[in-house]
Amino acid sequence: MKIVVLKFGGTSVADVPKIKKIAVKVKNEVNKGKKVIVVVSAMAGVTNNLIKLVKSISNTPPHQEHDVVVSTGEQVTSALLAIALESLKIKARSWLGWQVPIISDKSYGKAVIEDIKTDQILEFFKKNQVAIISGFQGLSDENRITTLGRGGSDTSAVAIAASFSAERCDIYTDVDGVYTTDPRIVKSAKKLDMITYEEMLELASQGAKVLQTRSVALAMKYNVKLRVISSFEDVPGTSITKEGSNMEKSEISGIAHSLNEAKITLSGVPDQPGQAAKIFGSLAEHSINVDMIVQSSSINYQATDITFTIPESDLLIAESTIKKVQKEIGFRKFITDTNVVKISVVGNAMRTQSGIAKTMFETLANNQINIHVISTSEIKISVLISSDYYELAMRSLHSSFGLDV
Ligand code: ADP
Ligand code: ASP
Ligand code: MG
Repeated sequence: MKIVVLKFGGTSVADVPKIKKIAVKVKNEVNKGKKVIVVVSAMAGVTNNLIKLVKSISNTPPHQEHDVVVSTGEQVTSALLAIALESLKIKARSWLGWQVPIISDKSYGKAVIEDIKTDQILEFFKKNQVAIISGFQGLSDENRITTLGRGGSDTSAVAIAASFSAERCDIYTDVDGVYTTDPRIVKSAKKLDMITYEEMLELASQGAKVLQTRSVALAMKYNVKLRVISSFEDVPGTSITKEGSNMEKSEISGIAHSLNEAKITLSGVPDQPGQAAKIFGSLAEHSINVDMIVQSSSINYQATDITFTIPESDLLIAESTIKKVQKEIGFRKFITDTNVVKISVVGNAMRTQSGIAKTMFETLANNQINIHVISTSEIKISVLISSDYYELAMRSLHSSFGLDV
């Protein structure tokens, strides 16, 4: 059985005319003799509205009920697409996450897929052509609906492609591929024909939301043939591959930005062993991911300042968590700044080329942009700057690294 997985994001299913259009795309795949699994997101803006609805009642809702509400957007689009396909005489039906089932753990709101049962859909394919699965959804062992985190339909699609050993997984979206940076911010961004899993993983994890980070990690692990392609234009997309990126020769492959950042500084932390373990241990207990970390060295071995970043969406919980251990740790002040953005330059070739940091810092300095925090990995350099300057920073870095078209 030749199975392909096609995933359509929120803007691709934003209204009924668009849903009818993608039904035609799906029909074309069926006409090529394929069994098609379609994974759909909620209509653009719907998930945001559902989250607002929950928050209008409570900032601390029961996690299970939160997920029941926010997963509903995908239920609507999967059935609408099934109806559109039926009217094109294609044998299709909608499948909710729990019906497949897609089994996840219990971390509601950011659940991790543990297993996907394939038997029912394979049986369905004996007499039918298209299975439309609601993205973003899972089922916990408490028999409750879970959701996979923002952008999670990408991860649903890749996990499904891996489980069904699909020929390929196409991510249809509102841009026609992966670019050297967000093409909505930098008009001179260049489309890439190919990018390695590794580079895509870094770009996504640094904020390039064209693919959810976890979907890229999964594709890499299971060697899923992944492609990002336009829902609206008939042009070739970007293949995400094991190796052979055509960007290998240039210094960097892309620039990403993340606005969902909060900077926390704990000043006057007594300079003793075990302090960092206490601070970051308490955050880990609440599953808060800490990203960039700097600690000033104390001159007199008495006190240091520790600065780090976390997702802005976790700030409230981080603040209450750390303030609970303030006495035990003995730091003086808790200072936060949410007017920050993280800009990262990413590239495989960084391993072998020096001078990338110099170019990056000089470019920012020439534009009078102050750097708050720096962090590096083998294939990326990130800086935290004021969000007032992020577009300027992205455009000037894109140009300094010779990426402009
Ligand atoms: P979907 O609703 O289809 O899942 P998303 O909004 O999640 O779409 O992702 C697509 C968006 O990702 C684009 O509209 C673009 O603004 C953004 N984006 C960020 N970085 C990049 C990049 N390097 N290449 C392409 N798009 C990017
Ligand atoms: N609808 C969900 C979101 O907006 C999942 C997705 O679109 O991938 O985050
Ligand atoms: Mg998305």
